[in-house]
Amino acid sequence: MSASIDWRARAATLSINGQAFVGGKYVPSQSGRTFDCINPATGRLLAKVAACDARDVDQAVSVARAAFASGVWSRMAPRDRKSRLAAFADLIASHSEELALLETLDMGKPIRDSLAVDLPLSAQCIRWYAEAIDKIYDEIAPTAPSAISLIRREPLGVVAAVVPWNFPLLMAAWKIGPILAAGNSIILKPAEQSPLTAIKLAELSAEAGIPDGVFNVLPGFGESAGRALGLHMDVDAVAFTGSTEVGKYFLQYSGQSNMKRVGLECGGKSPNIILADAPDLDAAATAAAWGVFYNQGEVCNAGSRLIVERSVKDQVVEKVMEVGRAIRVGDPLDPATEMGAMVDQTQTERVMDYIEKGRAEGAKLRLGGRRMEKEGCFIEATLFDDVTSNMTIAREEIFGPVLSAIAAKDIDEAVSIGNDTIYGLAAAVWTKDINKAFKASSTLRAGVVWVNCFDHGDISSPFGGFKQSGFGRDKSLHALEKYTELKATWIHLGQ
Ligand code: NAD
Repeated sequence: MSASIDWRARAATLSINGQAFVGGKYVPSQSGRTFDCINPATGRLLAKVAACDARDVDQAVSVARAAFASGVWSRMAPRDRKSRLAAFADLIASHSEELALLETLDMGKPIRDSLAVDLPLSAQCIRWYAEAIDKIYDEIAPTAPSAISLIRREPLGVVAAVVPWNFPLLMAAWKIGPILAAGNSIILKPAEQSPLTAIKLAELSAEAGIPDGVFNVLPGFGESAGRALGLHMDVDAVAFTGSTEVGKYFLQYSGQSNMKRVGLECGGKSPNIILADAPDLDAAATAAAWGVFYNQGEVCNAGSRLIVERSVKDQVVEKVMEVGRAIRVGDPLDPATEMGAMVDQTQTERVMDYIEKGRAEGAKLRLGGRRMEKEGCFIEATLFDDVTSNMTIAREEIFGPVLSAIAAKDIDEAVSIGNDTIYGLAAAVWTKDINKAFKASSTLRAGVVWVNCFDHGDISSPFGGFKQSGFGRDKSLHALEKYTELKATWIHLGQ
């Protein structure tokens, strides 16, 4: 079905909405200002998008607060919230071609990935929280018989979700599902590089019967709309996914305003450790290549440090290069394309600077390393060998298709190199030995450790970081902890 679609023809006739969505309707920014939304594969304008700022934030927060206080959603029976969220998930699924096309045009990822990964996972995420919410019981504490203590989870109120551009729809879905299922109102601020699917989602939320004012979308820049949400006195929580640098701003905003709850899903520099006794070295090397080249390397948990036991390092590196060389890089709208465009000029230049630093600091460039001769923002799959832990490319998050191979003498050295980072989002270890696998998984300081696979997961399994990769978890029932408060009601029963 989708394979036969002429995506370029479809893109030419697509009508794109660039407005904000507040109180159940599309509105321009109050200042009337817009910003240009550019297709990074062609450099051409896709849409003019509302540049919301502090005034728009004030208005959206008051609308979201009124909706929350009215109880139209916050006090709706969970089974009714469930049916509307399920309808929302169905609408996302039935609009998946349009949403996938918007995602690909907006941020450059291959259409095959938008269709096969981002869309189904986004719909599935909303549906999972819909299905969960009428099956969760509260608690009664084991008090003396003279009292009953009811321990209940209540929604927080108005939650701002500030999300990045690498998986615009999916990262938004990870927030929207649990925030709405728990009964909160939401203000979603997409990244300025990728606002289009969030804007389309708003229309679908209304069609699904999410009441006016409960689901709002404010496109705009981080320094204006994002900052105003972080500092707002009537926003109860911020659910943030993005860089560690901006995550720290949100902690400051909270301290400078109303001590709002902050959940942070930030950057990563994930170690992918391949030991000599891996069950299948070729399979491990292939997964290592895709673990960093998938989505142009713009993945928070990208396995950007390949740490390999010295005796098999050259063999693994050769195989990674073979996989990297075969990757089809090009027009994101071509269904055969496996690596598309970087999100924008700025990110392209940033990644090229890192490649230059890798060279200058003495790492051996074995694959790629060039910006490609295409009109848009394309970079070759790149591999540096003989990298050491002190080099910039081994320490900083590059967020591009650049892999650093590092040799280790044994598992202990591999884990110690793996942990030599400010980040702790994800890690992987490949070995046939269950003792080594367990030892590595318990000593690696990361929110998720994969054994004999990379980047596997499921909505039922929590995702989030240790250390400066943030705190709080997305996915699974644990995500609901971020968007609810515990309340104890102590009922005195007398003697
Ligand atoms: P970013 O931090 O630049 O931006 C993220 C969001 O914050 C955007 O909506 C942006 O507009 C907003 N923002 C930017 N500056 C702000 C400011 N001063 N005040 C308030 N808001 C501001 O991140 P990005 O470049 O969009 O995304 C890439 C980063 O996201 C990477 O570091 C990546 O690792 C991280 N990420 C993490 C996860 C995870 O689950 N841990 C998932 C995806 C991406």
